[in-house]
Amino acid sequence: MGAHGSSIKNLPVSKDVQAYIESGIEKDLFKNRAGSNFHEVINPASGEVMLSVPDSTETEVDRVISNARQQVDSGDWARWSPYQRQSALMRLADLIEKNADFLAELEMVNTGKLRRVARNIEVGASVEYVQYMAGWPTRIGGETLPTSIPAPEGKRWQAHTNREPIGVVGAITPWNFPFMMAIWKIIPALACGNSVVIKPSELAPLTTFKLIELIQEAGIPEGVVGLVTGGAQAGSYLTQNNGIDKLTFTGSTQTGKSIAHAAADRIIPCTLELGGKSPVLVLNDADPEAAAKTIAELVFLHSGQVCVAGTRIYVERGIYEDFADAYSAVVSGMKVGNPEEESTQIGPVQSKAQLERIENYLQESLSEGASLAAGGDPVNSAGFFVNPAVVVGSQQTSRLMREEIFGPVSALFPFDGLDEGIRLANDSDYGLAASIWSNDLSRINYLIPRLKAGTVWVNAHAILDPTMPHGGYKQSGIGREHGSTLIEHYTQLKTVCMLT
Ligand code: NAD
Repeated sequence: MGAHGSSIKNLPVSKDVQAYIESGIEKDLFKNRAGSNFHEVINPASGEVMLSVPDSTETEVDRVISNARQQVDSGDWARWSPYQRQSALMRLADLIEKNADFLAELEMVNTGKLRRVARNIEVGASVEYVQYMAGWPTRIGGETLPTSIPAPEGKRWQAHTNREPIGVVGAITPWNFPFMMAIWKIIPALACGNSVVIKPSELAPLTTFKLIELIQEAGIPEGVVGLVTGGAQAGSYLTQNNGIDKLTFTGSTQTGKSIAHAAADRIIPCTLELGGKSPVLVLNDADPEAAAKTIAELVFLHSGQVCVAGTRIYVERGIYEDFADAYSAVVSGMKVGNPEEESTQIGPVQSKAQLERIENYLQESLSEGASLAAGGDPVNSAGFFVNPAVVVGSQQTSRLMREEIFGPVSALFPFDGLDEGIRLANDSDYGLAASIWSNDLSRINYLIPRLKAGTVWVNAHAILDPTMPHGGYKQSGIGREHGSTLIEHYTQLKTVCMLT
């Protein structure tokens, strides 16, 4: 077990962020809520309750959806040209950039994410995402169809397709990258002319509240993006409402199944971005030290609470010992602590429940005969910290190797030859992503088509870009996000056939 960090307390929060959080209690949304179920929003680094957020009632959800419907059917939004949508999205990108430090700090206090990760990866990348999506409204079109239907004398058949907005999109997001996930849901839907009703996670809703304010500041008509707050109860009011034309969900596979049922009941489309247990394959020709250093940084990004986290690390036998030594040394030296400090590498996990879950997985694995090559011990703190863990000697059939833990826990496993590596990598209910660490092109090219994963990285992991489709095989989801896939997701295809 490594000796990391110390106790973490008294996190400094800027006056602006403090005032914003306090003003949250005054939001109309939270007033007169006798009888509502409230959820505590906690700073994971200090364990302190910042505010409580109620479950929206069924009547409120209905009202928010009706407003969104009015906008997309007959409101100002329905009359906006693609150029107006493009300009508004560009204004929004500017506003996010202008507020980036504030948003990053708000995200840090609500998720425990390192300030620099919140600033550079989550908020910074979201600016580019919105800019990229702003290019789409003016590029979405249909096609002319080469029909050969016989026409009466003097007449002509003409057929073409139009792409139309789907209508009201119901979006539900998780707590790990709440700002980025809200952006990934709302922005492509708006680019295609839809309206959106979003429910962020009850654990981390703060940056979504702010995003909706910025959307209005960017000039997008009120009601086009509506907000529902709370947890499963409010989420189910949203998914079951007849006013929703499409569901888009990012979260756990378990919840994803109930979203899919709700979509099936009403025969509406749904996009599901679900859990993962992504394999990392390190081949014999890789430099064990260099690979160990980079992989460790990527596995423990946001304390391992990343859907694509490469938590199953399979290392070819020839370099297994060298890699295991180097990797365990890097992980043992990682600094756990205050997410505000530049030198911190690992912040807290999101909640006490998450911390206990991680401890349970580790205990069970140790009781089954595995051992810890690094970390795994909790940090004495009012916040939710655990030292990053390297587990060796676990069974491929163990829960630790098969279930998504969503915490700073990785497991090392040796393999012999590419076919065994493929078998182990694919031996999972999930299929979100995988990575290969090698410079041997023929071996890389043997692996790529055989890996059952929505994304395969080579000498990289967890690299995402607005142009690159993202989504999973198997129980990691249905559909893809990003790039041109927005057209499939967020428009209806209408065929027009005319005799003139
Ligand atoms: P979760 O499934 O517990 O909750 C996700 C959201 O669903 C929350 O907003 C929650 O309030 C809501 N919800 C819960 N029950 C509901 C119900 N019955 N009806 C409607 N809404 C309901 O997931 P989480 O713990 O917030 O997030 C972690 C999960 O998200 C992990 O499994 C992770 O892999 C996944 N994730 C996937 C991706 C991806 O792109 N594939 C990205 C980020 C996170």
